Amino acid sequence: MTEKTPIHLAKRLACLLIWRFNSLLHSLLLYRIGSHPKSREGRVPPRPKRNIKWGKVELAPPATHLCRLAKRLAVLAAALLLIGGGQAAERRTENLILITLDGVRYQELFGGLDLEILKATLKDGKLEDTKTYRRFWADTPKARREKLMPFFWGEWMRHHGSVAGNPQKGSSVRLANRLHFSYPGYSEILTGQARDDLITSNDKVLNPNPTVLEFLRRKLGLPQKQVAAFASWDVIGVAVQQEAGAVFTNAGYEAYAHPAPAIQSMSRLQFEMLTPWDTVRHDEITFRFAMAHLKTHRPRVLYLSLGETDDWAHEKRYDRVLAAIARFDSFFNELWDWLQADAQYRGKTTLLITTDHGRGDIALNWHTHNAKIKDAKNTWLAIISPDSPLRGEWIGGEPVVMDQIAATLCRFVGLNYSEQNPNAGKPITRIFGK
Ligand SMILES: [Zn+2]
Repeated sequence: MTEKTPIHLAKRLACLLIWRFNSLLHSLLLYRIGSHPKSREGRVPPRPKRNIKWGKVELAPPATHLCRLAKRLAVLAAALLLIGGGQAAERRTENLILITLDGVRYQELFGGLDLEILKATLKDGKLEDTKTYRRFWADTPKARREKLMPFFWGEWMRHHGSVAGNPQKGSSVRLANRLHFSYPGYSEILTGQARDDLITSNDKVLNPNPTVLEFLRRKLGLPQKQVAAFASWDVIGVAVQQEAGAVFTNAGYEAYAHPAPAIQSMSRLQFEMLTPWDTVRHDEITFRFAMAHLKTHRPRVLYLSLGETDDWAHEKRYDRVLAAIARFDSFFNELWDWLQADAQYRGKTTLLITTDHGRGDIALNWHTHNAKIKDAKNTWLAIISPDSPLRGEWIGGEPVVMDQIAATLCRFVGLNYSEQNPNAGKPITRIFGK
């Protein structure tokens, strides 16, 4: 990567200085052994015949000056090595994966199954007899969320990452846009700025502003398939770019050309195995295509946009919402196992996972989200990165704003997003341990 250049320079300088230090030390030793047999004679030696000159000044005796110089050079060399090593240790990310889970509430992420909502959506029978209750209910929020997302909480949050946005812990992640529905949310994430003046609907139109995906492709000099977006909702295919074709996209009901017979078959089947919605295909299809693309084209920047959670919520199917979240968790597990087994991605990949908006917070309005639903502005953000020391839940701190995500993604690969959009939110410095 281009940003390794300063590290290489630092290392070369350090080597040069060490070499210089060694040659000085060598001269010094020669001088002491050959001309100053002080240790043997126990007296101040006579002035040597072969004096060492340093510049124009004759050093007599030169040992003190040489020692001081050698020490200074050694310290400088060590400092340069530390800087070089520090920079390398500071940034290991070479690949970025952004994942969004449409309309997944912080309430389920941090607390699992909400009993009031399950009760409100129960048509008949006993609550305790439902499949959803038996699968996801436990006595504490911690136990419930671990039942819902065992991999996210048990593996990622314990060993590899952190998550912001639990109000119970004084952490807040919120939207800058005031509309609280999908396109404005995705655009805020992807362009780094809320534009309530420009984006006022979910219409399937190209983003009116350039996105972080376009910026990353240009700055990293990547071919189109190396910056790829896979989405269940068709509108994402245009929301990710201002210029058509700038990013590789596969979104909504769309065929995906791939040599693997299983993917070819899935590409055909998606048009037969329909969801209740014309613009959103099954997340399973989207995930399979994204994994196939990852393995074959090895993108440096991948955006995976999963969507069924929002649509099932609008249908008031809380059971399906929870089942979809649990499925996302199994996707995370599968994705992570593959990343860990691959040399290009293991230890060099940062994942940011978030949502485009929240929803209502009570049984009456949990299914919906809009400008009038206050709690819909509250979201969450998870970070899995070799470059972030944080683990588990964020406690307290400044609120995180969703318009900071674009600049944060860029920061992970050493790029400054304000070059593209000076009005974008700034990187979330806490992620980097600062
Ligand atoms: Zn929605």
